[in-house]
Amino acid sequence: VAKMLAVVNYSAKPESVELREVSVPEIGPTDVLLRVGAVGVCGSDVHQWKGRQSWKVKYPCVLGHEFCGTVATNGSRVHTVKEGDRVVSETAAVINQDSPFAHEGRYNIDPSRKGFGYGTDGAMATYVAVPERCLHKLPDNLPFDVAALTEPACVAFSAVCVNTRIVPGDLVVVIGPGPIGLLCAALAKFNGAGTVIMLGLPSDKERLELACSLGADAVLDGEVSDRLNSYGDGYGADIVIDAAGVSATLKTALEVARPGAHITKVGWGSQPIGFSLDLLVQKAISLQGSFSHTWKTWERVISLLESGKLPVDKLISRTAPLELWHDCFEGMHNGTYVKAVLRPGD
Ligand SMILES: [Zn+2]
Repeated sequence: VAKMLAVVNYSAKPESVELREVSVPEIGPTDVLLRVGAVGVCGSDVHQWKGRQSWKVKYPCVLGHEFCGTVATNGSRVHTVKEGDRVVSETAAVINQDSPFAHEGRYNIDPSRKGFGYGTDGAMATYVAVPERCLHKLPDNLPFDVAALTEPACVAFSAVCVNTRIVPGDLVVVIGPGPIGLLCAALAKFNGAGTVIMLGLPSDKERLELACSLGADAVLDGEVSDRLNSYGDGYGADIVIDAAGVSATLKTALEVARPGAHITKVGWGSQPIGFSLDLLVQKAISLQGSFSHTWKTWERVISLLESGKLPVDKLISRTAPLELWHDCFEGMHNGTYVKAVLRPGD
């Protein structure tokens, strides 16, 4: 069996990730073998490296779910792509096609869904096996580095444009200037928001500047509730998108939301929260979770990337070969890099 290099998460213990030589994956009749062109490092990859994730992981598992590449080999029943095609992949590697959610086209929330990089081997490797149904063709003008950001852009699109209804002129607050939050700010502006305010920590200074270059009208750090009163009519945000990687920011979201507002939570955080939800009740706020994405969102986002209207390349702090995975994970973990992208072909 042919061998390849892969970044493998081999146990639940913290820092159990290493570059290993593993077998090139086998493919079934409806899969393709994809030669990986680029794969983004996600906050969730870093969570798994640190052993702090709240989801079930199979061990060992090749990390990486934000990827694109070139079709190397087709399974016998694959007919929509051919060898040599440049494609980007969705993340729902395993779904129950007979579940009610799949029938509704909402396979992203099928409880039996397994994603690349935790439920099945991911793309931080020379090759990855991918079901044909996950693939979308890439326009020629999108380089792999940039196309690797399609997935986080789809997460943001789903949160802001599918699970939230923004009305033109809305005051939108986005919490957390990570890659998802930054993309949410850009998409909120596209979607008609009157004013977009990005909230972060004082240590997020550079990211908050990046938020402005992506469309945010203002950025705030530290204690924000009082200062937010100078925006709009002073009653708070119509919409809050909570994209921080902790659960506790829901408290800030409830504080900055106006009565009758809508909050969409898209950031994960396994730490329990220790505050009352009375504001949710008192302000009659609607709280919506947002997870993953579906086919139509991918096609929309790819066309946005092709048009250059969503400049995701601004988020890329570092591209590196697979061998430098540790530096990329460390840089994402300590906040030096907004987004690192690995290029297994380099
Ligand atoms: Zn991700």
